[in-house]
Amino acid sequence: MLDLDELPDIVYAPLGTRGMQPLNLKECPRCGNNDIGKLQLLSKEKGLRENTERGLDSWDTSTDEYEIKCSNCGYNFRIKCQNVFGSAGGKERVVTFVHILTEDGQNDGWLGNF
Ligand SMILES: [Zn+2]
Repeated sequence: MLDLDELPDIVYAPLGTRGMQPLNLKECPRCGNNDIGKLQLLSKEKGLRENTERGLDSWDTSTDEYEIKCSNCGYNFRIKCQNVFGSAGGKERVVTFVHILTEDGQNDGWLGNF
């Protein structure tokens, strides 16, 4: 059984100079339904961790994709999480960039609309 619990509830989207805006990830971008009983995780794909080298720097990235169906309005959407693993002072840090995609993989621009 696939479970939405793996996704963070809230992500923070940068808002230019106005700081960060908390966004509910478990919400249908079309109808605003945020009842997780009506959001179904259809599939998830865990990306492989890949190493990128540029000059003397190198870092790892991976991309996870979740496909979610809203049973309230029938809309399918994808959440794509791009993880960038870096190290700072010997400790690993992960920065995750979240994109909301429409069902055909187009970027909905949803996170950029604020
Ligand atoms: Zn919906």
